[in-house]
Amino acid sequence: MNTPSFQDVQFTNGYEFTQGTGYTLPEYAFVTPPELVQNKTLRHAVVIVGGGISGLTLACGLANLGIKAVLLDEDNTVGVKGASSRGICYTQKSLEIFQKLGIFDRIAKKGIQWSVGRTFAGNDEVYNFDLKQQSNFSLSQQPAFINIQQFYIEGYLVERIQELGSVDLRWQSRVTAFKQNKDFATLSVETPEGTYQLQADHVIDATGSHTPFHAWTGVGMESKKGDDRWCIADVRFDTHPPTERHTWIEAPFNENRAVWQHLMADDVWRIDYQMEPNADAAYISREDVVRERLERQFGKKVKVDIVWVGPYAYKSQCLTTLRMGRVFFMGDTAKIVNPFGARGGNTGVADADNLAWKLAA
Ligand SMILES: Cc1cc2nc3c(=O)[nH]c(=O)nc-3n(C[C@H](O)[C@H](O)[C@H](O)COP(=O)(O)OP(=O)(O)OC[C@H]3O[C@@H](n4cnc5c(N)ncnc54)[C@H](O)[C@@H]3O)c2cc1C
Repeated sequence: MNTPSFQDVQFTNGYEFTQGTGYTLPEYAFVTPPELVQNKTLRHAVVIVGGGISGLTLACGLANLGIKAVLLDEDNTVGVKGASSRGICYTQKSLEIFQKLGIFDRIAKKGIQWSVGRTFAGNDEVYNFDLKQQSNFSLSQQPAFINIQQFYIEGYLVERIQELGSVDLRWQSRVTAFKQNKDFATLSVETPEGTYQLQADHVIDATGSHTPFHAWTGVGMESKKGDDRWCIADVRFDTHPPTERHTWIEAPFNENRAVWQHLMADDVWRIDYQMEPNADAAYISREDVVRERLERQFGKKVKVDIVWVGPYAYKSQCLTTLRMGRVFFMGDTAKIVNPFGARGGNTGVADADNLAWKLAA
């Protein structure tokens, strides 16, 4: 299969506003699956639906254990087209899992290690920590955090799965229907070469927050939507703030609302501004409005190169059970948390690590 190496993918320095992409992402080729070649419905032990960070970590975990599986993803790339990156912070626990899977060195080489966090209220520093001091009491070989764009991790997972074999990665393969009985599940898959069906002993739903499996299985959930609004600006500067995580619980330059500031790979800073409740997404992400906001924080003299802007709102959701018959839910299909604390992707990685050895057993 002619797959581009993720190392070759270039960061593009143009800026984009919620549409388009600030990055060039790798594209993976569609390969005609055996079901279409043989015109036959085949049975597989494990079918993972969704190749985001959770699905790919599970696929890599299974491949690492030599377990055969099929992964279906509707897209032909990693990350989210048109978005810079959702996740940026990866915890020690995830980094330990990535070490086990053989991609930690790639992440450490590309990502940013940080240990100092400072919290400000107005101009006062009200709290700080240095995770290096805590790491004196840790047996882990991995650092407390690495900041890196989520799609880099997903790309390294794809590379690693290809190195390990065992897992059949199927791109441009959208699952459009599902049914199950007590012995197996049947999935319909739409591809550029037509639709086919396959059967699975176990289906793993890793399709993220817009999953169709909730409706297909009738699983129950608790859900809460907030009116909080945020607007991300991923930027590069001609001067460099310290490589520390800065948080303002009250930022004088943001009408006393909160701000988070982090460095990630490629020298890109994520500045995440809290907006007014129910703020208008189109207005808060307009270029002149974003530039004015950045100027208020960094001053007029600092040259800012905007990589991407993304307004967002969030909800919290959790399923009442993580299994319905032959389907397991993991990552964002199992629970959605707000982005603070970097728990979404990290808990998806932990879900995958947990499920991999259990499925293998
Ligand atoms: C602003 C922001 C910042 C964040 N920061 C962090 C952070 O710092 N650290 C962190 O850990 N998390 C963070 N998160 C959360 C994290 O991005 C998500 O929790 C994570 O992407 C969930 O991964 P997933 O694999 O479960 O789902 P997704 O990443 O949504 O992947 C789902 C996959 O399923 C595929 N798919 C969907 N439907 C189908 C279908 N019918 N058939 C086939 N394929 C399908 C999609 O193409 C996609 O590849 C952040 C989120 C946001 C919004």
